[in-house]
Amino acid sequence: MIGVDVHVIGAGLAGLSAALDLADAGARVALHEAAPQAGGRCRSFADQLLEREIDNGGHVLLGGNKAVFDYLDRIGSRAEMEAIAPAAFPFMDLATGETWSIRPNAGPIPWWIMAPSRRVPGTRPADYAEALNLYFAAETDTVARRLDPEGPLFQALWEPLCVAALNTNPREAAAKPLARVLAESFGKGEAACRPYLPCNGLTPALIDPALMALARRGVTRRFGVPLEALSVQAGRVTGLRFADGDVSVGDACVVLALPPYAVARLLPDLTLPQEMSPIVNVHFKLDAAVTLPGGTRLLGLVGGTAQWLIARGDVVSVTVSAADGLVERPNEAIAAMIWREIAKALGKPPFPVPPYRTVKERRATLRLTPKAETLRPGPLTATQNLFLAGDWTQTGLPPTMESAIRSGRAVSRAILQGHARPATIPREAPHDGARPT
Ligand SMILES: Cc1cc2nc3c(=O)[nH]c(=O)nc-3n(C[C@H](O)[C@H](O)[C@H](O)COP(=O)(O)OP(=O)(O)OC[C@H]3O[C@@H](n4cnc5c(N)ncnc54)[C@H](O)[C@@H]3O)c2cc1C
Repeated sequence: MIGVDVHVIGAGLAGLSAALDLADAGARVALHEAAPQAGGRCRSFADQLLEREIDNGGHVLLGGNKAVFDYLDRIGSRAEMEAIAPAAFPFMDLATGETWSIRPNAGPIPWWIMAPSRRVPGTRPADYAEALNLYFAAETDTVARRLDPEGPLFQALWEPLCVAALNTNPREAAAKPLARVLAESFGKGEAACRPYLPCNGLTPALIDPALMALARRGVTRRFGVPLEALSVQAGRVTGLRFADGDVSVGDACVVLALPPYAVARLLPDLTLPQEMSPIVNVHFKLDAAVTLPGGTRLLGLVGGTAQWLIARGDVVSVTVSAADGLVERPNEAIAAMIWREIAKALGKPPFPVPPYRTVKERRATLRLTPKAETLRPGPLTATQNLFLAGDWTQTGLPPTMESAIRSGRAVSRAILQGHARPATIPREAPHDGARPT
């Protein structure tokens, strides 16, 4: 391909974000993707059985996810996200039926913990001070070493937050990334804690508008063509072998915005974290629009298998993260068990199970153990014009949408700051949206 400054491989959020920044800075970008569509682990699809567009899995953004909101503004789709404002995390204990809602206050001083109606029932303000232990975590510490598994908040708050944010059981999850999530949400106050959900799905909110924004910036794209190998000579990538043929790289840079196992296949000499953790989602179609207890589109569940419910119209979607045991079970058994739990929460009969779609993402995100955390690479590699992006690279955050988008920005910054910067990229960014700092 003649006239390309940067080849971005992978059209998930990391690749889209890198391509957007690079194109805004005037680079000529080619975007390559193995699948027939963009979005990777964050996408919607038309489900024949439910006769609805559904998402591969319930995705929740938080108000503090600044890079995602900046990305949404630049692709013009912030209005596709709906906030739960003021911030509230309603919960129900499936074993006891007890309900509560965590409602942080504005500003960084957490006086909400002084109000019994805004905190977990049966807990005292002093119990919440335990969160400070996370900030003094060593690299080798797990969450369960810093937050007492026998403590009053573990099952009702710390565990659900850890599993949702890190997709890793707190007994093996690294403590430091959870500290970062809490610092960027609860540490900043109500607005940074607001949960945001896509109004019409992930692809309409985060993917299709990005593809349109990239097309407007002249980014070329090739979908349905996996990268199979890289040729490296004298410390530079010189060629890319795709399923449909070879591409000479010339002076261009190459960004691998791929999941870690795909990078490991292409670069077997790198030591990378590769163990992934599954997420199971079950989408149930009901007879009418669903209203969740607590009155918002989101409900946290403890004391059972189901963890979070998200309602959109007549579809209620259940997320189970760190779903190691569950993912191996047959879909019918999973749906029957989960429906029994949520029927209770919704006040519906346990039989018959409504029409459902199970989505098992076996390699949903990196299993974020302390060991994996130390193995996460930055954007640069030993190969001069080769860069890594992806939610699993070292962003300080757990593998989330925010991490993916930040990793794309880190890569574009590294390229634009002169690491193997192709001479044809102009020094002055021509577009307003550019931030090649
Ligand atoms: C079920 C589920 C629920 C989630 N919930 C949340 C949530 O609530 N909040 C949150 O912030 N995050 C959530 N996440 C995480 C979020 O989806 C990811 O962090 C993010 O989508 C990762 O983006 P990425 O670009 O790094 O990787 P990917 O989305 O994996 O993109 C990589 C792309 O590379 C492509 N590819 C792979 N191999 C090749 C190859 N050889 N050649 C070319 N292309 C290739 C893939 O097809 C893919 O499109 C969830 C993830 C899942 C699966």
